Amino acid sequence: MAAVQVADRSALPTVKTPETNPDARRPVARVLTAHAQTEGGGFLVHRPFPGMVSMHDTDPFLLLDQMGPVVYEPGQARGAPWHPHRGFETVTYVIDGEMVHHDSHGGGGTIAEGDTQWMTAGAGVLHDETPSDRMMREGGRMHGVQLWVNLPAHDKLVEPRYQLLTHDQVALIGSPDGGAIVRLIAGDLGEHHGPGSTYTPITYAHVSLAPGATIEMPWPETFNAIAYVLDGQAEVGPERTPLDAHQAAIFGEGDGLIIRAASTQRSDTDELEVLVLGGEPIREPIAHYGPFVMNTRQELIDAVDDFNAGKMGRIPS
Ligand code: MN
Repeated sequence: MAAVQVADRSALPTVKTPETNPDARRPVARVLTAHAQTEGGGFLVHRPFPGMVSMHDTDPFLLLDQMGPVVYEPGQARGAPWHPHRGFETVTYVIDGEMVHHDSHGGGGTIAEGDTQWMTAGAGVLHDETPSDRMMREGGRMHGVQLWVNLPAHDKLVEPRYQLLTHDQVALIGSPDGGAIVRLIAGDLGEHHGPGSTYTPITYAHVSLAPGATIEMPWPETFNAIAYVLDGQAEVGPERTPLDAHQAAIFGEGDGLIIRAASTQRSDTDELEVLVLGGEPIREPIAHYGPFVMNTRQELIDAVDDFNAGKMGRIPS
């Protein structure tokens, strides 16, 4: 697998394990199984939420899509054609392959392996999201994740902006048993800081764990906590609740998180690949229609009107 790797995980700095007994870690409140569906120009995604739970249940996160992993033949790669967004942020993390985007403000660029593009749609932007020309031509392995992060009411109409968080900016953290690599994309984990700048406090990380390895992480009491298995088999929480690929756990209250990789892994990397994310709930009304997420129905009507009037920009010729 691509993403960011290191030769010696035991040389990485570690996070301070919570001082309480491991039995005090957050228990699993709910297990979600992703549903598979086709998006954009016809690519398969697994979506753990929303689905079995509403957007309120994962607040401040609205949606999580795992794209692939898939190996495209030459000429087969698919992306999402031009579409708008308003009222939240789309966070695209590329594990394998290469994505390209263009937007209605003349922006655009490539998201390479291990990179994250953090797009604050704010008041509104049109964009497309496609595999790179090289991937279109030659084919290859594509695996990525798109997370939708809500914006609080007073920031929903901020000016659109991008943060390109390149693979070399991501904070890398290990575990005392040497079996983990944590790629911290945004927010804090103990005394470590990820590069992403967020409107409300969140933490977002991609963890790889060797078979049988364990990681314990401090986690703010005010944050919710979710683990989503991209590939492999996990045992999460003090009760070692099993999670298979494409399953997520929503954790309850407790002191920190504990995640183990099952001693045998059936995965492309022979390891557990898991996303760990959480944040402070925004606790505001959510009105959602397609690519718009606002607080009221009237704001959705305004969004559609503004889009139709070209106020979110126009598709470049
Ligand atoms: Mn989009």
